[in-house]
Amino acid sequence: MAPLPPLREIIANYQLSARKSLGQNFLLDANLNDKIVSYSGPLHGHDILEIGPGPGGLTRSLVKAGARRVVVVEKDDRFIAPLRELASSMTNIVVVHGDALKTKGVEKRLRPPVRVIANLPFNVATKCLVNWLESEPWPPFWKSLTLMFQEDVARRIVAKPGDSAFGRLSVLSQWRTRARLVMRVPATAFVPQPKVNAAVVRIDHPRALRPDDPSIVELTQVTRWAFGQRRKMLRSSLKKVDSAIDDHLQSIGIDPCARPETLSTDQFCALARTLFRSPIK
Ligand code: SAM
Repeated sequence: MAPLPPLREIIANYQLSARKSLGQNFLLDANLNDKIVSYSGPLHGHDILEIGPGPGGLTRSLVKAGARRVVVVEKDDRFIAPLRELASSMTNIVVVHGDALKTKGVEKRLRPPVRVIANLPFNVATKCLVNWLESEPWPPFWKSLTLMFQEDVARRIVAKPGDSAFGRLSVLSQWRTRARLVMRVPATAFVPQPKVNAAVVRIDHPRALRPDDPSIVELTQVTRWAFGQRRKMLRSSLKKVDSAIDDHLQSIGIDPCARPETLSTDQFCALARTLFRSPIK
């Protein structure tokens, strides 16, 4: 295989100036892309889903690390020709032109085991994550997610009860998976440089559902109610949901005066079960 042209050359040849509206901050350093990939677990015998490949730096590292197939989904038309050029020299790359939030059935193009690995556009990163965490059926089509976020979002994903960053994203991410922050990436590593630092989170071990698990819809709703007014005591923020909220909370051993960030994920599950199994007043 002929050596690939440097990413900067591709960007210059195709006049790929970065678009802020599409969250375009590129990682052009091959060593850094290799390092991100090294945190994703072994890739041999795995299909990979990558959202937002841009000029393809991370894509190259994924192929180099031995991925069986890499399916990339890119929204920006300008990147499709250079990505197809890359796919013509690395035959296990499949280029899908579309919006990751709207393109249906991409997972059908992937053969298990599947890892999702992406330097996500900051503006749609949380939405992508929540979609993967809410995958139906569960256990999901993916075995692990290795994703780049703004550092403050990454910290919210992995925060533990009692941390000021603990919130809805922490509960959803840690309920039936394990989430770890594996690498910090300074803003200076990107071209152009964003205003904030980034961090890579790895989410894995999606566990099977237990008979007493609430549904994802119920858990999402309860965390919305509770964290919608995170400074308030649970008794106040949940009063509008059920007038007997004190009794419900006490029946599952939660102090009605507690604030939402002090509850464990298991306690949120218990709360969801209690509220959705009794009539809402
Ligand atoms: N992976 C490349 C890298 O690391 O250099 C580019 C990362 S850049 C942060 C985000 C990429 O996602 C851009 O290529 C952008 O065009 C693409 N993108 C933005 N919104 C998208 C969406 N809704 N669906 C798919 N791709 C999207």
